[in-house]
Amino acid sequence: MTVHKNLVAGGWQDASQAKENINPSDISDIVGQYAQADSATVEAAIAAAKAAAPAWGGSTPQQRFDLLDAVGTEILARKDELGNLLSREEGKTLPEGIGEAMRAGAVFKFFAGEALRIAGEKIASVRPGVDVEITREPLGVVGIITPWNFPIAIPAWKIAPALAYGNTVVFKPASLAPGCAWAIADILAKAGVPDGVFNLVMGSGGVVGNTLLDHTDVAGISFTGSVDTGRQVAAHCAARLAKVQLEMGGKNPLVVLDDANLDVAVNCAVQGAFFSTGQRCTASSRLIVTAGIHDRFVDAVLSSLQSLKVDDALAAGTQIGPVVDGDQLDKNLEYLEIGKSEGAKLAWGGERLSRDKDGFYMAPALFTEANNSMRISREEIFGPVASVIRVKDYDEALAVANDTEFGLSSGICTTSLKHASHYKANAEAGMVMVNLPTAGVDYHVPFGGTKGSSYGSREQGRYAAEFYTTVKTAYTAP
Ligand code: NAP
Repeated sequence: MTVHKNLVAGGWQDASQAKENINPSDISDIVGQYAQADSATVEAAIAAAKAAAPAWGGSTPQQRFDLLDAVGTEILARKDELGNLLSREEGKTLPEGIGEAMRAGAVFKFFAGEALRIAGEKIASVRPGVDVEITREPLGVVGIITPWNFPIAIPAWKIAPALAYGNTVVFKPASLAPGCAWAIADILAKAGVPDGVFNLVMGSGGVVGNTLLDHTDVAGISFTGSVDTGRQVAAHCAARLAKVQLEMGGKNPLVVLDDANLDVAVNCAVQGAFFSTGQRCTASSRLIVTAGIHDRFVDAVLSSLQSLKVDDALAAGTQIGPVVDGDQLDKNLEYLEIGKSEGAKLAWGGERLSRDKDGFYMAPALFTEANNSMRISREEIFGPVASVIRVKDYDEALAVANDTEFGLSSGICTTSLKHASHYKANAEAGMVMVNLPTAGVDYHVPFGGTKGSSYGSREQGRYAAEFYTTVKTAYTAP
């Protein structure tokens, strides 16, 4: 089997070791072999990115637009193939995989446009005869570290703005899903990205990630992943005063009030909690339901869950694919035991499933009679597991929703304008959804959270400029 190599200084580089990328729907299916960079390779990639930074930083908006637009066009043209690769390596269903590939293409196109809109300000000085100009400049070399659960969209929403604003990139994807990362690198190379402007270094967090974090020539790190890793990333960056941006976990609440439209609420809960196998930072893992609708809501969610088809991510009609790997599956099953031992009632699902092919399948699980102090309500499980917490009224629902160390996405289902407006203003989260699932966002507006979910400036939309540029204030006297 050919080994997919790292891209360093414009050349494809082999490594002494390679890692298999295994299809979680069918563990006999090896998606590919991926070269594992050592720290010398990462250092070479950083040196190449540093050497390429002045020319790329000085490139015209038109050059950057042309590159990013071409990459976006290519991703969109190959959405079916890339979506297939994504579903095969990560396990989300094929429609979800294709949708994610389309999102990545759209993100590249959006930031192609942003490259044409980099603006500054000219402000009147308080001193006579002095001009004040405020401009945005690239950081230089940016290190990008991504998780496995959105293996094409998250790389896209970091790489595209990094390049649009004139930075050079060293990109380390998650070890569990390097296929889409390699495909993006290949597309960038074929689209003519200048040597060293974009580098791909696949390999472990401990080796590749740490080398990136500690290298003084890497001016900024954009990271998405778990809180535990995020803390380490922040500590390394703080130690050498590098700019850092972290997007991390969630324990996202979906509040359902007595006056909610039941169909809308059930759809939001099932989509938000279980689709993409619950492996989304924005998944609704806490369903906080007022007493008057509680029983009808639980019955309807249970009947919807019982009809969901869990199977091979690539098979037609599959609604829930497998868990990404055996470790994550074990973790999910362990949390089911924890929930039961804490006194929650496992109302449905949670068992390991066998299918035609040997994969990491489990039935989506719903706990009822949960409360907000249980570990299943406080810790991110990152699987198809949700808990229903019964509350008496809106005020208690809001208090429970906010009682978490996380603050990524927070949803409410209600037909009351008063409660919707109050919730939007008072939910402690970076994103608030009214009558929509907590997961599922637009690609052209900011994405991120508060509290333990995020650290640093926002990603996506024009707010991405905050991280990928630094501001210069220039004064001129006649
Ligand atoms: P993870 O284990 O924290 O890994 C994330 C990335 O960090 C991977 O590329 C990983 O490399 C790397 N890494 C691990 N140790 C490192 C170290 N010491 N130094 C530098 N890099 C290191 O997270 P994951 O399991 O891939 O992803 C799931 C998590 O991501 C969940 O918590 C989820 O909520 C979060 N997430 C957040 C968002 C958001 O925008 N807020 C979006 C998606 C996912 P290896 O793969 O080689 O270990």
